[in-house]
Amino acid sequence: MMQVDQTVYTTLKERLKEIFGYNQFRGDQEAIIHSILSGYNTFVIMPTGAGKSLCYQLPAIVSEGTAVVISPLIALMKNQVDQLNAFGINAQFLNSTLSKTEMNRVKRDTLNGTLKLLYIAPESLTKEENLDFLKKANISFVAIDEAHCISEWGHDFRPEYRKIRGIVDNIGNLPVIALTATATPKVQQDIQKNLQMEDAHLYKTSFNRKNLYYEIKPKVDAKKQLIKYVKQHKGKSGIIYCLSRKTVEEIAELLSVNDVKALPYHAGLDPQTRMHNQDAFLNEDVDVVCATIAFGMGIDKPDVRFVIHYDAPKSLEGYYQETGRAGRDGLEGNCVMFYSYDDIQKLEKFNKDKSVTERDNAKHLLGEMVSYANLGVCRRRQLLGYFGEYMEKDCGFCDNCVKPAPTFKVQNEVVLALQTVLQTDQRFDVTHLSDVLTATSNQYVTSYEHNRLDVYGKGREFNETAEFWCSLIKQITIYGYLEKDVDNYGILKLTQRGMNYIEDPYPLTLHKNHDYDHLPTDEDEDKDAAPTSGGAAYDQELLGLLKALRKKVAKEKNLPPYVIFQDPSMEEMATTYPTTREEMAQINGVGLGKVQKFGRPFIELIAKYVEDNDIETAKDVVIKSTVNKSKVKIYIIQQIDRKVDLDEIAESKSLQMEDLMEEIEHICYSGTRLNLDYYINQVMDEDRQDEIFDYFMQAETDNIAVAMEQFGGDDFTEQDLRLMRIKFLSEVAN
Ligand code: ADP
Ligand code: ZN
Repeated sequence: MMQVDQTVYTTLKERLKEIFGYNQFRGDQEAIIHSILSGYNTFVIMPTGAGKSLCYQLPAIVSEGTAVVISPLIALMKNQVDQLNAFGINAQFLNSTLSKTEMNRVKRDTLNGTLKLLYIAPESLTKEENLDFLKKANISFVAIDEAHCISEWGHDFRPEYRKIRGIVDNIGNLPVIALTATATPKVQQDIQKNLQMEDAHLYKTSFNRKNLYYEIKPKVDAKKQLIKYVKQHKGKSGIIYCLSRKTVEEIAELLSVNDVKALPYHAGLDPQTRMHNQDAFLNEDVDVVCATIAFGMGIDKPDVRFVIHYDAPKSLEGYYQETGRAGRDGLEGNCVMFYSYDDIQKLEKFNKDKSVTERDNAKHLLGEMVSYANLGVCRRRQLLGYFGEYMEKDCGFCDNCVKPAPTFKVQNEVVLALQTVLQTDQRFDVTHLSDVLTATSNQYVTSYEHNRLDVYGKGREFNETAEFWCSLIKQITIYGYLEKDVDNYGILKLTQRGMNYIEDPYPLTLHKNHDYDHLPTDEDEDKDAAPTSGGAAYDQELLGLLKALRKKVAKEKNLPPYVIFQDPSMEEMATTYPTTREEMAQINGVGLGKVQKFGRPFIELIAKYVEDNDIETAKDVVIKSTVNKSKVKIYIIQQIDRKVDLDEIAESKSLQMEDLMEEIEHICYSGTRLNLDYYINQVMDEDRQDEIFDYFMQAETDNIAVAMEQFGGDDFTEQDLRLMRIKFLSEVAN
């Protein structure tokens, strides 16, 4: 049982703030951390970007000794180690790239207990010498990242992952936390079995990535579409996935000649070039990387704004993980796939040389992919359904929701389909069911004697094709009338809702499948634009300056920019204008370590900006109004300095005089001195000015209503009083 400082339970939240700068745990993070700290095996299934890393990083930091983190890729480890070091945490990795000296340092820090996280690949774990030293060390727990690599049913099987259990047992009796972002119920079962942790505390959070916009475009004139899209997202980070190295090179080249900063990435490049191109992307020297799926696992760049699948992916799991790399920081993330059936056929050819099981599995995964593309149902409902999560409503934020496919009504058809599932004993997949319905005789149908069933050929009475029935069955599965069997994934069974439906049917609205063979028209394209999140509330100009500074600092420190500060933190800075270390530490995602390491130049920049632009900030609440308004203020101050008539200023900014007065008062109350004499002298004679001035001098309040009571009868307008109040405040108070 590991040693945990008893106070950690009360202070976890404080440590979260102090180290990582976050005010709150996200989702199940806190419960997960408690679970592993209490010594329970813990299994975490969360989508990319949900914040899995923190679930083992924080407990590792508060526990005595060192946590071992098993991770499949060197790039991934390096990334996390960089990020942790930026937070001021001692984390290191152990792999074959280390020199003797580096290796010794890792071992020394582990044995003396100063190292909090040791990242290691499963290959290195099996090495005798590493095992020996780990046995001597005080290990707090073991974290297994990307745990889906254990399962053959997943999309990224790594045989060496299956040895982990044995090795961990060899090191000692340690609690294990396994984490993954993709697991169908079947893969999940497989992982738990292999790690012998069926008893684990399971935390499965929703897979929904609310900020991602999913869309599929027909792969017609794809290059032109691609360039247009990337240009529309100029200056933003994006990944374009292609199937082959050749296409990767071709597309990278194509983008480059079209003035997009892009580089290729695939396993065929020499390691140096590969590393260079990856770093160029992380460091924002290029905006776009064109890559095979060799790229990305462990690329934790949080501000990727679009992920494009130029070719169709091989599985929905892969697709979900790849698209998951967009918008990890919770901000904008666009996921576009170019789809044509030709691509699917190409992929099928690749599977020819595989073993029978492998081929069947690959074919099944691909079939799910095709369905996803073709169905007119909300993409999010389809994706979540695939991962065993039922969604009651359409999401409203995918192409199928924004631009719905034509619909049709059904009722008797649904009853018939459900009856077919029942009559075939709930043991068959969609293809077989549609064969039975359309009386497509084949060896399976006859060998099960399904040609004798009551429902056999009944589908023909509706004059519908096999394609229609497949689509219908898939749609009613997504809508919860049928469900997939966990052990045998293609098999469909009735749910309670399906049972009820047969008893008491009602009309259902389904969507027609897509036809990807036609060229998108201009009108389609206009409708295609992903809805944007609306006007940003932050100071764009300051954000630009902060980003430029971040890039400079990152260059000096040889770190990716997001390791310094992430976009959401920068946006917050450009909203609340922190000008002290304390205020900076209040920003989400900025812990004390970061303030110390990187804070100063940013604080200085903001302070100067605030001063130059005369922005008001209060202690922790910001009074400052929106960006545009602050620009207007600056404009007004400049114009008054130039002695421009107030009427003219109002007109040039299309303001009512009333509104302009309010702006000027606001400027004045925030402490800026304004000299309006040039204007006031035009509209009031000196005696009247003196009268009002004296009034404000001895009045108990500068309230205008009160002043109006005093002067109202004497032909003074409210505007006169307000102008004089500004003059008074400027001369006396400011
Ligand atoms: P995952 O490993 O699940 O893909 P990460 O661990 O990379 O996700 O986290 C995704 C993003 O969420 C990162 O930018 C991280 O800094 C941020 N994050 C994690 N936990 C929190 C939290 N409690 N509050 C705010 N942001 C968080
Ligand atoms: Zn949707």
